[in-house]
Amino acid sequence: MTDSALASQNGSRVDEPVNARAGDVRTDSPPRDNAVIVHPQSTAAKRSAWRVPLLFAGIAALLSPLAGWLLSTETPIDPTNYALRTKRVLETTPLIDGHNDLPWLLRVELHNRIYDGTFDPNQRLLGHTNIGRMRQGQMGGQFWSVYVHCDAAQKHFEDPSWVVRDTLEQIDVTKRFIAEHPATFAYCDNSACIKPAFKSGRIASMLGIEGGHQLGGSIAAIRQAYALGARYITTTHNCDNAWATAGSSVAAGRPDNGLSKPFGTAYVREMNRLGMMIDLSHVSHQTMRDVPSLTRAPVIFSHSGAHAVTPHVRNVPDDVLRAVRNNGGIVMAVFVNRFLNMRDPGAVTIHDVVDHIWHLASVAGWEHVGIESDFSGTPVVPAGLEDVSKYPDLVQLLMARGATDAQIRLLVGDNLIRVWGDIERRGQEIRASGEKPVEEEWEGRTWHHAYKTSPYMLRETRGRAAREDWGEPNQFSVGKSGQHQGAVKEDKHL
Ligand SMILES: [Zn+2]
Repeated sequence: MTDSALASQNGSRVDEPVNARAGDVRTDSPPRDNAVIVHPQSTAAKRSAWRVPLLFAGIAALLSPLAGWLLSTETPIDPTNYALRTKRVLETTPLIDGHNDLPWLLRVELHNRIYDGTFDPNQRLLGHTNIGRMRQGQMGGQFWSVYVHCDAAQKHFEDPSWVVRDTLEQIDVTKRFIAEHPATFAYCDNSACIKPAFKSGRIASMLGIEGGHQLGGSIAAIRQAYALGARYITTTHNCDNAWATAGSSVAAGRPDNGLSKPFGTAYVREMNRLGMMIDLSHVSHQTMRDVPSLTRAPVIFSHSGAHAVTPHVRNVPDDVLRAVRNNGGIVMAVFVNRFLNMRDPGAVTIHDVVDHIWHLASVAGWEHVGIESDFSGTPVVPAGLEDVSKYPDLVQLLMARGATDAQIRLLVGDNLIRVWGDIERRGQEIRASGEKPVEEEWEGRTWHHAYKTSPYMLRETRGRAAREDWGEPNQFSVGKSGQHQGAVKEDKHL
């Protein structure tokens, strides 16, 4: 989008107060305030009063790059110069994308081998993401998605599956990828890390797990994922799991059971205690409604649109947007064509994303919106938002529609940092209150450890082992090919 095309849409004040209420942001017609005032300090009277200090500041600016930068932000600019406004905002506020699936491509294309020279993110790659384009897009932070798809072979939430192993591998490769490019990326596992990383010229890099199924229905596995650095869990992906119903299940005609009871409530309790972000993108609408009614901390939607704009199950209905606003959470707008326009996904453009963001902000408030691309995870993206270099174009269009610099700062990063910080603090408070880690397990869970010969600690277990004639542990005989040959009985004298 060229500056002139943008400038033709409408003028707006750069520093209007932030609108946090639905009525303050009109979705039908943009604000018609064409005032040219761009900063309170830019009036003639104030300029004259500050002439002498400004002279000294000018001298200081020549001497100090920092002072020069500070002064430059005070310089009035034409509010319709969206390109310049965008550049300034993104130089001083980290633009954080909530979801990029590049680690999934490391898995499927490289089998997670990133050192052999096949993959160089400093080069222009196919697809949506590489370092040069992230820099062009003025990115300040990225949640890298740790994603493994649902296992269709699983008939039961506790069936043995490769998904937990593969999730560990995705955490591993994402951290190695971040560490391999220290001049570009700074690994962050807390909200306070983002701004210093950004100020040091690096892109804060965080981990989020895109599906509760990836934890094998185990709350202990959630805790360990947290210990390894994952900071959000998308409560479901496109399959139900032990704690919640997925949106895709409802779309397929199955009932919307929402959050499971009681295990889903135990999931929410532990996520709150850990200070880990509960992500409600991908869940069913009932799950979206159940979680905010229970949680003791804000919730996030890492990549969803507005249901009132496009009634796709992946999008967030208005009543849930209001719940997110009351809950202090955030909805981060998605760039996936089929969620943006169900009828004609091929016709989706950057303007559709603007429409969704505008609606999210109008209902939830500008303090509760963010951006998330799903870049490198979705094959079809909107025209005008082809890759990670295009975020500034999106910001310019939002400004052209009337968004203030303050609103843009909230949208691109400040909201996420605040919400994450609130979730962390809530977790600290809960832990400080002495609340223990959750030990509940899924109701269908069975344990395979009833052996006759174990040196039991408790009289009761020893008694049961004899009474119930518990068996011996099974071992597997592994052939030369690595295939299991079948269970064999252990020597009972061992
Ligand atoms: Zn997704």
